[in-house]
Amino acid sequence: MINIKSQRELEFMQKAGRIVAGAHKAVEQAVRPGVTTKELDKIAEEYIISQGAKPAFKGLYGFPASICTSINEQVVHGIPGLRKLKNGDIISIDIGAIIDGYNGDAARTIAVGEVDDKVKKLLEIAEQSLYEGIKKAVVGNRLSDISNAIQTFVESNGFSVVRDFVGHGIGRKMHEEPQVPNFGQPGRGPRLRHGMVLAIEPMVNMESYEVETLADSWTVVTKDGKPSAHFEHTVAVTDDGPQIFTTL
Ligand code: MG
Repeated sequence: MINIKSQRELEFMQKAGRIVAGAHKAVEQAVRPGVTTKELDKIAEEYIISQGAKPAFKGLYGFPASICTSINEQVVHGIPGLRKLKNGDIISIDIGAIIDGYNGDAARTIAVGEVDDKVKKLLEIAEQSLYEGIKKAVVGNRLSDISNAIQTFVESNGFSVVRDFVGHGIGRKMHEEPQVPNFGQPGRGPRLRHGMVLAIEPMVNMESYEVETLADSWTVVTKDGKPSAHFEHTVAVTDDGPQIFTTL
């Protein structure tokens, strides 16, 4: 069952979303060659706590850190550690926060220093695909209209969308119904209604969409070792159109 949020709940979720966005800004300012992913984790955690919220990922299904940091061919769920970022890397940062019992969730991929033109294009297309999906998050559309818009945009630009991981409903729980795939035929699935809140999160691979999970049982990587990008917002479907919560 898809939870429909009341006006009051939407306001709590907006608050959570804004904290996530603030944490992203703090982390982004610290991304540079030489910084470790553990340092980025600490910056996000301290920011979230300073806002009276809690890092939503810490301990979620046993995840050991406050944020996910996934470098280059790592797609999602990378664990922060002592690895230092290098010029030419890309890093996907996924941050969740919970306040007043409600969650916010957002991700973005950042270039570290100077990256290849093709990698730059991957980031641009992945980010734009998120907005192509958000445009379809309107009352009366079907859920898969979002999925199809993302897939069509990504594939027409020569990249691929990950199948094995998908977006999700979000609210009191980080992961609620429905699942929000980044691929599929349009016109399928539930009809979108005012008060649904979705974490829309395309994961876009440079070449093959196939992924696998490393032995740490968290880090998801592309099977072909090529880079991958991830952009996510928490978005409310409202009578006034899609409302992005994870923004300042
Ligand atoms: Mg998510």
